[in-house]
Amino acid sequence: MKRILLPALALLLLLSACGSPESPVEPSLSPSPSAVPAGGLSRYSASFLTLFDTVTNIVGYAEGEEAFSDMVQDIHDELEEYHQLYDIYNEYEGINNLKTVNDNAGGEPVEVDQKIIDLLLFSREMYEATGGATNVAMGAVLSIWHDAREYSINNPEDAYVPAIEELEAAAEHTDFSCIIIDDENNTVQITDPEASLDVGAIAKGYAVEMVCRNAPDNFLVSVGGNVRPTSPKPEDDGRWIVGIESSDGSSDFLHTLYIEDLCVVTSGDYQRYYICNGVRYHHIIDPETLFPPDLWRSVTILCPDSGISDALSTALFTLTQEEGQELLDKFGAEAMWVTHDGEKLYSPGFEQYIRS
Ligand code: ADP
Ligand code: MG
Repeated sequence: MKRILLPALALLLLLSACGSPESPVEPSLSPSPSAVPAGGLSRYSASFLTLFDTVTNIVGYAEGEEAFSDMVQDIHDELEEYHQLYDIYNEYEGINNLKTVNDNAGGEPVEVDQKIIDLLLFSREMYEATGGATNVAMGAVLSIWHDAREYSINNPEDAYVPAIEELEAAAEHTDFSCIIIDDENNTVQITDPEASLDVGAIAKGYAVEMVCRNAPDNFLVSVGGNVRPTSPKPEDDGRWIVGIESSDGSSDFLHTLYIEDLCVVTSGDYQRYYICNGVRYHHIIDPETLFPPDLWRSVTILCPDSGISDALSTALFTLTQEEGQELLDKFGAEAMWVTHDGEKLYSPGFEQYIRS
């Protein structure tokens, strides 16, 4: 089994994810037993940069360093499998992933792992539940923005905004009904040759959910700010502390939260963006306008399921507070919206989780 170098990366990363587990208050070396054992367990942490194009940060309690390392290795390896299957940009030897599915758009059904079938069935449910606000079949439009962002970040003097005509033409190829998910034969077929999948809004949160359901208790896992506990914390009354990163680039946290068994997921306009003529263009696209919405700086979701949280964070980013609240009610979730003035708005049950 491939070993990962956990200790070397950890220090760098403690403050970099937007929902960093416990980093605001209890920074620790990695792996580093805490001074106060909890029920014979010691606390360790680990981080790595290899998954989902972002930072993974893991805090956990174990009987010793070796036990912790083994458990982290398992979590890493499982997440890596999801990462490779859900990758739309890279191929991996011996597997059909979502890039394979996209490359075959307009062609025959592609045989895929059950994990892809399950993600797409879940994505379709969330597409319907969000009234189309989170649409993973919007790859045709999202890839235009992706290319514009990459080019403009690398060539700021030449930054450009995609033409509305081009976006509108691509939007003709974003209908979820062209994704045929065959659960019996384990195949996926995109019937429209110009359509494609982009699961960036859901895949991380969904993978974290699936991996954490199988992981040992007493862990808190964050992949790019998709934070999920595997159980209540084995000390401090079961309450983990999770920081919500500030959107102004400062190291202050907007809040720290007390979390026992909820996931914390944030979408913001400050994570992946570029500037063109003084205007910020970020990475979440409103399917109605085909442009980045301008309603919020960030939206943070609290909900027991990390996949649902991720889908909701993207959807609520494109919706008004009222529309968003309707969605939250459907799922029993809570949210905090941050406006461009820095004002924080909360759903009715959010504030009970605030620590500071
Ligand atoms: P992050 O990945 O930074 O945590 P999100 O969960 O909000 O943020 O996902 C944003 C990503 O989802 C984008 O990079 C893009 O790939 C994709 N995306 C953007 N807008 C939408 C949308 N309306 N529906 C589905 N996917 C989207
Ligand atoms: Mg999301």
